[in-house]
Amino acid sequence: MLLVSAPWPLFNRPSLSLGALKAYLSAKEPHVQTEACHLFLEVAHALGFERYQGVSRRVWRAEAVFSALLYPDRAHLAESLYTSTLKHGDHAPDEFRRLVRQVKTVMDNWLQRINWSAFKLVGFTVSFCQMTASLYLISQIKASCPSLPVVVGGSSFSGERSADLLKVFPYIDYLVVGEGERPLLGLLRQLVNIGSRSAGRLPDGILATETQPEHKVKFSQLSRLGSLPVPDYDDYFNMLAGFSPQRRFFPILPIEASRGCWWHRNDTTGQFKGCAFCNLNLQWQGYRTKPPEQVIREVDHLVRRHQVLSLAFADNAFPINQAASIFDGIRELDRDLSIFAELRANTPPELLRKMKQAGLETVQVGIEALSSRLLAKMNKGFRVIDNLSLMKHCEAMGIINASNLMLHFPDSDDIDVMETLHALEFVRWYRPLKTVSFWLGLESPVYRFARRFHIRSVCNHPNLKKLFPEAVVAGFRFMIQGYRGDRKRQQNLWRSVEKETRQWQKDYDIMVRQTAGIPPLAFRDGGRFIIIDQRFPTQPTVKHRLTGISAEIYRYCHIPRTLAQVAGRFDAHSPEQVAAFFKSMVKKRLMFEENDCYLSLAFPVSWRQ
Ligand code: SF4
Repeated sequence: MLLVSAPWPLFNRPSLSLGALKAYLSAKEPHVQTEACHLFLEVAHALGFERYQGVSRRVWRAEAVFSALLYPDRAHLAESLYTSTLKHGDHAPDEFRRLVRQVKTVMDNWLQRINWSAFKLVGFTVSFCQMTASLYLISQIKASCPSLPVVVGGSSFSGERSADLLKVFPYIDYLVVGEGERPLLGLLRQLVNIGSRSAGRLPDGILATETQPEHKVKFSQLSRLGSLPVPDYDDYFNMLAGFSPQRRFFPILPIEASRGCWWHRNDTTGQFKGCAFCNLNLQWQGYRTKPPEQVIREVDHLVRRHQVLSLAFADNAFPINQAASIFDGIRELDRDLSIFAELRANTPPELLRKMKQAGLETVQVGIEALSSRLLAKMNKGFRVIDNLSLMKHCEAMGIINASNLMLHFPDSDDIDVMETLHALEFVRWYRPLKTVSFWLGLESPVYRFARRFHIRSVCNHPNLKKLFPEAVVAGFRFMIQGYRGDRKRQQNLWRSVEKETRQWQKDYDIMVRQTAGIPPLAFRDGGRFIIIDQRFPTQPTVKHRLTGISAEIYRYCHIPRTLAQVAGRFDAHSPEQVAAFFKSMVKKRLMFEENDCYLSLAFPVSWRQ
């Protein structure tokens, strides 16, 4: 069996899907040779890594390249889409036709090099940015070897209407619905043992072109992840080893501790669970985690085998209950690791510290908004003060917080924007968030309950008409949806936030340069007193001294505390006195207040050490 990951995923890490599937299939069917082709790496090598990255970082730009190959008579439309995404300084090749020719040469070489008749089955894993590339390659494989069965699966083809794919692209033989391991194994066994696509009933989780429309496809996923073998990334590293020494690099190893997401809380109306904009978990039913020992063993094995020290957890939301055991175990491996993970904003500071000690360097936190009203609409389950607390602790521990601020969420209003602008006055000392615009994900709660979010109608995203012919766009629901609603209004509404966020970035850069790495808002502890240094981009540092009980309260509010909690703990002072202290701190932007809950914004400089 040949498993393929087409362009355009991040080139500097092997495909987790390919690694996991190859390891699983090889363990279950050792006599069947399974190969994993990280074709995207070959393309990145041929184009130059920087040029590849320039293409791969934007979904429409990436998809346009293979659209021009898939539909040569419509290449001008793909070109116009590609060109519309170009921005000054983003290192993407600007000569579209030359880029397409170059990519085609790499693809032709690959297609000719492979002995297709040696395979019983070819599988494509298709995620973000891999749609047109995979379709083009499949069409070429089938043109030269029509009897070779091709199966596709992955996050791009999830959800209820994914079966339409087989009608729209009849050259695809099979579709995996949901997780790949068990369905692929079943299909492979059938093809190897029986040797015919028409023989017998299809394994659960597999749809075929001839499947009757009324056939309700069943997910077939592993009940536990504990039985999964360590992902096999050898093919990726072998390809890399074949590059000249100047073109080799140190990849990042994807690690998986869970599948799905544990954030399941009902929204206020009970219509849906989880975050309103999210469609990341259509591939899985429920939430499963690997036992901590297994994750630690995998880290140990992969780091030893491939001799690299950068890891990226691929989990949509890191399993919070196992996090302490996993990171304690990783720390005990005693390696100087550099780890990336996606977290939720309720990660406690003690846990974050543990993670940092094990090598956590970069996080993406589900911050999304700095308005509690808006966070409630998104069903994030947090308040702004929780987001600020997490941002502060990342800053304090020297963890790079690469999180997003989502603009243009449908149904957001001027009060949400006002709240955001207010919060922005308090976060200027922390690493800025990256603004991203809301996009409508197929089968996300916003998609399913569109009316509630003031969306009048949904349809495939208009850019898809530039990538695919009319009949394809009409016949298949793609992951990125378009909509009619309050989009124009949203764009106007959020302009001031965009402007403030740009200023935030400029100010932060200036402050970081000025302080040569010292946090712009931090305090030194003198025991009975603390001295807070509050830096500004264009004026001298302001120093604040807090003594006695004020210093104690300030330290106590290192996480959000209610007025009642503070008054109860420091009962020698009346609640009015405490409230007056808080008021002055908030006015100076040294604390943040939300509904009588308070957070100190400065942290001890010693936390950085
Ligand atoms: S956005 Fe993240 S936390 Fe929210 S439901 Fe999706 S995966 Fe879970």
